[in-house]
Amino acid sequence: MIPIAKPYLTADEAQAAYDTILTGWITQGPRVAEFEEKFAAYTGAKYAVAVSNCTTALHLAMIVAGVGAGDEVICPSMSYVATANCIKYVGAKPVFAEVIPSTYNIDPFDAEKKITSKTKAILIVHQIGMPADIDAFKKLADKHNLKLIEDAACAAGSSYKGKKIGSHSELVCFSFHPRKVISTGDGGMVTTNNEAYYNRMKLLRQHGMSVNDRVRHESSKIMFEDHVEVGYNYRMTDIQAAVGIKQLEKLDWIVSERRKIAMQYINAFKEIDCIRLHIEQEGYFSNYQSFSIYLKDNCPLTRNELMQKLLDAGVSSRRGIVNTHRETAYSTEYADLKLPVSENAADNSIILPLYIPMKQADIDKVIESFKMLVGVPVA
Ligand SMILES: *Cc1c(COP(=O)(O)O)cnc(C)c1O
Repeated sequence: MIPIAKPYLTADEAQAAYDTILTGWITQGPRVAEFEEKFAAYTGAKYAVAVSNCTTALHLAMIVAGVGAGDEVICPSMSYVATANCIKYVGAKPVFAEVIPSTYNIDPFDAEKKITSKTKAILIVHQIGMPADIDAFKKLADKHNLKLIEDAACAAGSSYKGKKIGSHSELVCFSFHPRKVISTGDGGMVTTNNEAYYNRMKLLRQHGMSVNDRVRHESSKIMFEDHVEVGYNYRMTDIQAAVGIKQLEKLDWIVSERRKIAMQYINAFKEIDCIRLHIEQEGYFSNYQSFSIYLKDNCPLTRNELMQKLLDAGVSSRRGIVNTHRETAYSTEYADLKLPVSENAADNSIILPLYIPMKQADIDKVIESFKMLVGVPVA
């Protein structure tokens, strides 16, 4: 069976975790600080704050952006459910906008239509690694005096207009879950150029504690901490950070290897009339965290039939990104909401296996099985 995804982890990461465990410093400490510095430098952002996962990263971003009860935040419904959940955590209301069919990224025109006097922020998502049009949303945020937050859970290593994701706006949240391009088991990061946001997020992730363990540990004078606001325990451990540092060193290589496989799929499928691929426009550079295909009306099989037949042939696939407003946790509140583009996209998309290293024979098998099933003769 060809799996859908696999994290790229080697003896380097295992050794780094091993070495860290033996230092005796296993929760947030020097490795976390080093990972933050290196991640900030990689993205080109001034600061980075490591946290336990991207969901907690998004929660902190909402808090420091000042989003709270009674506010509305515009985001795509078509995303992983954590995107909307973090808005709920602060008592605000997710207002769902449509996506653009060619990229599945939030549509700036529809987002603008959804702005009301209660709108506080726009949360954009770089869907499965393809950057959203950040400049369009920056303009929109400026025009209406809104905060802009990026859910870049899938987008480590992607770039927009020649700059890495993480450097364009004030709050950019990343995930290191094994399903993303680099992993620390679980893990997350927020990059920012805003010093006040940076300092507050560092407090909030560690119980609101004024003195962190490392400073106290290294001090020659006795020190007592104060808890200056109600915070959280959203720490990353040094074991995870040590793995993350190794993963980060390989990130550009991992992305280039993933892109080689994506380009093979694109070349093999670009002439097929009954599907639509997500091709990068000029200025957009995807890490291809996933390879998604849209099945048009004239496709000989439904998406679910295709998934079953691929499975029968030994090829895993996934349905791709869901619509949050149709998930049970949201469907009552949003029962009257219709998002035809997002709903159609979610019902007719399929994600194919893409991971590294992927054997050429397996890439060929995915290509041939897919072509055969959508009725294209295989050479
Ligand atoms: C994976 C994902 C998340 C959640 O990331 P975790 O690190 O698992 O919390 C949030 N948003 C999007 C778009 C994702 O793909």
